[in-house]
Amino acid sequence: MTSQDIAASRPAELGDELTAETQTALERAQASHRHEALFSERAYNIKQSAVRDVFDISIQPGLVSLAGGSPSLSKLPLELVAETASRVIVEHGMEALHYGGGKGTLALRELICEIMAEEGIVGASAEDVVVTTGSQSAQDIAAKIFCNPGDVVLVEDPTYVGALNTFEAYQVQVEPVFMDDDGLIPEHLESRIAELEAEGKRIKLLYTIPSFNNPSGITLAAERRQRIVDICSAHNILVLEDNPYGMLRFDGHPLPPLRADNPDDVIYCGSFSKIFSPGVRLGWALVPRHLYRRFYLAAEAVVLCPSTLNQLIVTEFFRAFDWRGYLAESRATYAERCSAMLEALAEHFPPEATWTTPDGGFFVWVTLPEGIDTYPLLYQAIEAGVVFIPGAAFTPSDGTSSKLRLAFSGVTPEQIREGVRRLAPVVRSAVEA
Ligand code: PMP
Repeated sequence: MTSQDIAASRPAELGDELTAETQTALERAQASHRHEALFSERAYNIKQSAVRDVFDISIQPGLVSLAGGSPSLSKLPLELVAETASRVIVEHGMEALHYGGGKGTLALRELICEIMAEEGIVGASAEDVVVTTGSQSAQDIAAKIFCNPGDVVLVEDPTYVGALNTFEAYQVQVEPVFMDDDGLIPEHLESRIAELEAEGKRIKLLYTIPSFNNPSGITLAAERRQRIVDICSAHNILVLEDNPYGMLRFDGHPLPPLRADNPDDVIYCGSFSKIFSPGVRLGWALVPRHLYRRFYLAAEAVVLCPSTLNQLIVTEFFRAFDWRGYLAESRATYAERCSAMLEALAEHFPPEATWTTPDGGFFVWVTLPEGIDTYPLLYQAIEAGVVFIPGAAFTPSDGTSSKLRLAFSGVTPEQIREGVRRLAPVVRSAVEA
């Protein structure tokens, strides 16, 4: 409310006299109006995240949340985590509670190299790793050091809403590139680059989630991977590979990340959020050596150093724990949940709806007939006791979307079946309208 609104809404019987209460409200409004002028242009570009909004709703009791991409923590040995945390404080004393180096501890960076080797990035050096506050902050650092306002970042359509918010905050022009069932389409990437370059645009980054894309669950086919990097390299565009779900492939070996054979052209972002705990807020970037210094200086300028205590806990916990076995168990849990969702969709959803069949990760992406806007359906879904994320959140273009994201990761098979059963009549009535 502006000061004029408040003044205009004054009760008539007060005449020209303001009550003390109205006076205070008026002063507050004037103050907030004054400060409004102080915001940077960047601040106005920071959008409210649909996922965070729905997250707040989804914690209401009784609702089944198919919204948030939360990892399942139910099989984490909490006692071992607690024991490790207390041992770290006893054994490391004040070091655990102090500032540390801006790159992160060497021990954690070495562990990160072992984790990446499991997925096919063999021989990475701890010297090229920066520990970050989750993968989210690695994206922020990349946008900060590479993008001027008006520069272009290419993204998959659809893509992770948190990355869209980050890029938009840096006043970047975010340009979608189409995907099919095999991920990003190389021909479309090439033609989009040609069009944008013809317009005189400076394209800095391709942000991609090649394995089990959030929100679609789609994976970039092995035979397309090198081609995507080559196209970008030919145009001097850096690839920002975001891979928090890569280790969570249900069956078989993970596909090697884009970074595996391209150490100079790809910044790789990893995370402990999906393989251990999002609450420790630890992730990492594996950065080409020639870019490393600027990357970690920018990281230092934001956080000084990642949490020393959490780095010690994660390092010691992973050293004491069969994390490979735990990951195998997690993959089985997510595979079971995914199957429950796919079966429930087949049983309850109308034939006009289609959906992806992911090989890993946390999400199924549902497409309803064109013309249906899934955003208003969310309100009906909440009435029916279930939440999802409407598709429009995951695309840089404004407008409506007939897609919706369903997360199977943080809910049991029973909850998934119940959630899909509750959602089905909402979808059916939209399709029949
Ligand atoms: N990237 C993607 C693709 C994600 O889905 C998420 C979390 N949902 C993140 C990054 C953020 O992860 P972190 O907790 O590591 O910041």
